[in-house]
Amino acid sequence: MPLTRRDFLILLGMGSALGATGGLGMGYLLLGSDSSNASELPTPTANATLVARLKTAERPPVVKRSGWSARDVNYKEADEENGLYSLTNPEGWREYEEQLRAVYNTIVIHHSSMYEDDDVSTMQAIQDLHMDSRGWADIGYHFGIGKNGVVYEGRSVQVRGTHTEGHNTGTLGICLLGNFEEEIPTIAQVNSAHEMVNWLALRLRITHLAAHRDFNSITQCPGKNLYPLLDQMASQALLKRGTDGYLVSPEQIVTPECCSE
Ligand SMILES: [Zn+2]
Repeated sequence: MPLTRRDFLILLGMGSALGATGGLGMGYLLLGSDSSNASELPTPTANATLVARLKTAERPPVVKRSGWSARDVNYKEADEENGLYSLTNPEGWREYEEQLRAVYNTIVIHHSSMYEDDDVSTMQAIQDLHMDSRGWADIGYHFGIGKNGVVYEGRSVQVRGTHTEGHNTGTLGICLLGNFEEEIPTIAQVNSAHEMVNWLALRLRITHLAAHRDFNSITQCPGKNLYPLLDQMASQALLKRGTDGYLVSPEQIVTPECCSE
């Protein structure tokens, strides 16, 4: 079930606007539950219910790259993702050859910080920034989520992202469009994020959900108005919160042929 307006305001710490007590510190809140359950920890029964619901969750509709006129990938010319990944070119464009279920462990939530006239122009502007200024071969995020909850396909999930410095291998980047240091994400946006997290977590065997700033403390991303919602985003998908699920990048543990036993 999607978040109600009541759940949403409580999660934002604005429960007093509804006459409710408590706020961000109230702990686990069952998705779509009555607020009387708000302070209860999940029970095995609740977990079983959640698991059953998650298993039947359908992927929200995703606007493909062509739907927002994405540019073509250009790893042959990009400064920072130059050429295909290999042991001698570890920063290169990496198309995962493994089963994706064996690759991904953590979903990382971002905000775009910028917002143009609409979602589509914002997706395009992010891609331009990432390709033309950052030197990446494509937009860095795997998905964008617009103001009305529309999900946009970013970089292929078959390819390593460029969204969390030093922690891109095995992390899936989802970016909510907007600057949540200054504004508040919409309910539709947060509900779509929940749906995508649910679906991806189950299909890709994700174990953890983290904020960008959990990995890179130098950034405010995803902003102070989105960050407090991530505990709920993780718990409703039965994910652990934080960076502990991140595994050492496979390229760092591969033993070159020269040196193997
Ligand atoms: Zn970020």
